Amino acid sequence: MSLRSIESVFNPPPHHWVGDGFKVHNFIPSAISMDRISPFVMLDYGATTYFPPSGKTKGVGSHPHRGFETVTIAYKGKVSHHDSFGNSGIIGQGEVQWMTAGSGILHKEYHEEEFAKKGGDFQMVQLWVNLPAKDKMTEPKYQAITKDKITQIELENNSGVAELIAGNLFGKTGPAFTFSPIILSSLRLNSKANLNLELPQNFNSSVLVLEGSVEINNQNITENQMVLFKNDGDSIQIKSNNNSLVLVLSGEPLNEPIVSYGPFLMNTKQQIIDAIEDFNAGKFGELD
Ligand code: MN
Repeated sequence: MSLRSIESVFNPPPHHWVGDGFKVHNFIPSAISMDRISPFVMLDYGATTYFPPSGKTKGVGSHPHRGFETVTIAYKGKVSHHDSFGNSGIIGQGEVQWMTAGSGILHKEYHEEEFAKKGGDFQMVQLWVNLPAKDKMTEPKYQAITKDKITQIELENNSGVAELIAGNLFGKTGPAFTFSPIILSSLRLNSKANLNLELPQNFNSSVLVLEGSVEINNQNITENQMVLFKNDGDSIQIKSNNNSLVLVLSGEPLNEPIVSYGPFLMNTKQQIIDAIEDFNAGKFGELD
């Protein structure tokens, strides 16, 4: 095993609001370009924010997606969703929703009603994963990755727990079906944890520190910072300075052209024009 070196460390970009419910720092593509971190194309990080009790369910109204997948990880608080195929559900605290938008879907995402009424801390990540060209028009589907489905890995030397969502780590496999090879895992580390993660050298790899602080290659990484690794080794080493929560994302690059326009992410300009035409023609279904 050889250790990867750090390519860059990013502070959180200034926050912006997605609708009125999601206060997020956009790391991908604002800090890390889509090409550099392929197959990941967007990462919005909603750092812990307190929302006071509200009779209004805050969030983002009906909007389309085509050509990729949205992965929502609810660390604190709960997210509700509705789509144009009549599906709806709740992403509970500690749960993950993996939505394949594929050929096209309309959905809305907002704070779950009971959570909104009670108020509380809200902390989430939304990650967009590109689809290979051959799968861009696949049928839309969901994977509701509830707590019991997430692969819990007890780390050696009382280092904590890895919550593996997708791919292979520490000899275990996560529950998510993915269209290209991906490793996605949260790490809940105890103080003074010291671990090595094997991430194939050709996989573009990054970690986001959501809570606490860690040391990577003797460099201190503080809360809300994101680290991009060079593709110069097949493992990364993380030591925790205190109790920490870290998200690891790693994936094999697709190496296909990207043409993106708002909520559509395709390979050619013509496919974007088709997406807009299909959307305007009502082919994504209907959702108020
Ligand atoms: Mn969406």
